[in-house]
Amino acid sequence: MLDKTQTYPDVSLLINGEWKAAEGGDTLAVINPATGETIGHHARARQADLDAALEAADAGFKQWRAVPAVKRAATLNKAAALLRERADDIARLMTMEQGKPLAEARGETLGAAGTLDWFAEEAKRIYGRVIPARAANVQQIASKHPVGPVAAFTPWNFPLNQAVRKVSIALAAGCSIILKGPEETPASVAELIRCYVDAGVPAGVVNLVFGVPAEISEYLIPHPVIRKISFTGSTAVGKQLAALAGAHMKRNTMELGGHAPTMIFDDADMKTAVKMASIGKFMNAGQVCIAPTRFLVQEGVYEEFVDQFVKAAGSIKVGNGLEEDTRMGPLVHDRRPGAVGDMIDDARKQGADVRLGGKAADGPGYFFEPTVLTNLTPEMKIMNEEPFGPVAVFNTFKDTDEAIAEANRLPYGLAAYAFTSSMKTAHRLGQEIEAGMISINHLGLALPETPFGGVKDSGYGSEGGSEAIESYLETRFVTTAAI
Ligand code: NAD
Repeated sequence: MLDKTQTYPDVSLLINGEWKAAEGGDTLAVINPATGETIGHHARARQADLDAALEAADAGFKQWRAVPAVKRAATLNKAAALLRERADDIARLMTMEQGKPLAEARGETLGAAGTLDWFAEEAKRIYGRVIPARAANVQQIASKHPVGPVAAFTPWNFPLNQAVRKVSIALAAGCSIILKGPEETPASVAELIRCYVDAGVPAGVVNLVFGVPAEISEYLIPHPVIRKISFTGSTAVGKQLAALAGAHMKRNTMELGGHAPTMIFDDADMKTAVKMASIGKFMNAGQVCIAPTRFLVQEGVYEEFVDQFVKAAGSIKVGNGLEEDTRMGPLVHDRRPGAVGDMIDDARKQGADVRLGGKAADGPGYFFEPTVLTNLTPEMKIMNEEPFGPVAVFNTFKDTDEAIAEANRLPYGLAAYAFTSSMKTAHRLGQEIEAGMISINHLGLALPETPFGGVKDSGYGSEGGSEAIESYLETRFVTTAAI
């Protein structure tokens, strides 16, 4: 429901358990992307704030790693319960700052509570092993220990979903964390972090900062207190941060961009394929790293599929996410409509057909029309770079070999999708598609209990499943001879 009286809070830093302004009092504006208006401000951390956060994280780690796993788990479960209680208010803040429809914001908030609960349980499953020794009086034990204070960087597209994974995995493992939250969407993230604090996570174990991203990452990553980096964002920035982490021998997890191939075979269930593909493509206005992007449709069903997809896309109601009937909100900031529009213009100039949309919408806010392009060639920018907007691009393929070759053409390898009723085709795709995740006949990715991560230029490491906690742990080996 559109509530014109809804207020948006100014957002502070959280350092050593204290919500506070930045040293010097600097702030940066937060814009509502549906209106272009400034709705609030967030504190802008400077070096003195980062030093205080580092000191707090160092002390917090020493305290938290000694807390038994069952108690860490119970604290995280409590944070999940608080998040569920506060979901309506947090979802409204998210829609105001990020633009997504309220139902999506609420779904994301409740999903974040589920993630918290799942990683809470993971705290209790940090197992070592006893390795058979070569002498009767020797015992060999490999045990797992939290790696240390973490510096994490999360983006604006899923303000809660991205942050809740990194913070919950770190805390489940026994690490402390400094989260640099997304400056575009700070209030919902701050409310998420408040749930951890109110659940009883001790001061200094979770710290939250905002500011100028490069200033913060360049200071935190090399700092000796920080032992692990986790970043979600573009491949270009991820490569810079991974290089910096490497130069300082810091472990890191990189969840980067994608360009998900989405293959529709002649034998697919057409109704399901159209429905799933159009929901997946336009969710969050296409600002999703695992969004279906390069649609490859087998020749026999190409016209039928494109016609039906255009119909589904054309019926999407675009508007302010606070309005009940809105199905797609604006892009997140003023740079995005121009960036998406440039890719479409580049394709159009090289011969692509615009079957639907194609431009930013008039009026205030950063709205972009749901867009469908056909007749694309591999040279076009949009066939190589992540559009990160509500744009679907369609080409045909003759057979499975051709589909796989095009799917694997790019350096990205995050998500892939396929629709087919053939077990044989599905099996082959599972073996041969170069992606960290492939979902066949449904949209089945991004659950807390399943691996989430990419290969090739889409990064490395997992932010889901039992793999996730491993990268926040280090293995120590103790061998003892009983003499
Ligand atoms: P951007 O590259 O300016 O920022 C993307 C994200 O990276 C933001 O969260 C930003 O705070 C962070 N970032 C940028 N430079 C950084 C640095 N030096 N140190 C630490 N963090 C840094 O781009 P944008 O215009 O905000 O978003 C557009 C592009 O970003 C998209 O094309 C998309 O590829 C990528 N992106 C990816 C994801 C994802 O889920 N993988 C999320 C958001 C954005």
